[in-house]
Amino acid sequence: MCVSPELTVTTYRALRDAGVSRTELTARLATGDLTRLRRGVYATGDACPAVSAAASHGGALACVTAARHLGLWVLCEETSVHVWLRASGHRRHDPAAGCDCVEHWDEGPAVDSFGIPSVPRILRQILACRGVEEFFVMLESALRHGSITAEGLGWLRDHTNPAARDAMELARSDADSGLESLLRWRLRRLGLSIRTQRQIHAVGVVDILIGNRLLIEADGVDNHASAPLRHKDLVRDANAAAWRYVTLHFDYALIVHDWDLVERAILGQILAGHHL
Ligand SMILES: [Zn+2]
Ligand SMILES: [Zn+2]
Repeated sequence: MCVSPELTVTTYRALRDAGVSRTELTARLATGDLTRLRRGVYATGDACPAVSAAASHGGALACVTAARHLGLWVLCEETSVHVWLRASGHRRHDPAAGCDCVEHWDEGPAVDSFGIPSVPRILRQILACRGVEEFFVMLESALRHGSITAEGLGWLRDHTNPAARDAMELARSDADSGLESLLRWRLRRLGLSIRTQRQIHAVGVVDILIGNRLLIEADGVDNHASAPLRHKDLVRDANAAAWRYVTLHFDYALIVHDWDLVERAILGQILAGHHL
């Protein structure tokens, strides 16, 4: 997670108000302590690259870039910076000249002229820009991290569409990862009996239980790669099998890029009656 953008991007006026003289400003620019983003706008030496990119484009972080900046789950892999220009903003980069920033022109208040939108507004931007699936994943992350208030949820309900309200109904605050959220979202359309975060005897807490016997695990990269953790996973699977459970593991690449195979694997087990 990056530090808050208002601490890292500042204006000429704010620097002058804080007692920074013109000479001192020139000296700080020369040493790299300050970087000029555009006329009258500066970044301090430790400004996060996305914040600087958005400011030099003319706005603040928006949408998936803002969510990532706040440490929330974002599935989208693109690296373009999403910039909040607001209704009255002025673009500083020329998209025709090769800038690949994604612009957001929705109106709303910010903390200051470089503040990012509130979490409910970020969610609304994601819905418009990336669709309801990505909206759902970020919403579960915001719920998990306590980043959205009851008031924020109420505002979102009033300022969004039926598909998003439907996703809000389904959203929970106990999802362990964005992958697990995505898995649950996509499994929903199969109309199966699904339970999440269940304590299973001799196994522990599993991500998803389908029917009574089929265990589905979404494996993140970091928590299953090392040899000791791999061994732990194998012990867990062996215990599950001893108690007549069937375990299927899916990783990021499978869930995100090969969903068809994930669905066929799960349905194959169900057709064989392994969930009963
Ligand atoms: Zn740009
Ligand atoms: Zn966007």
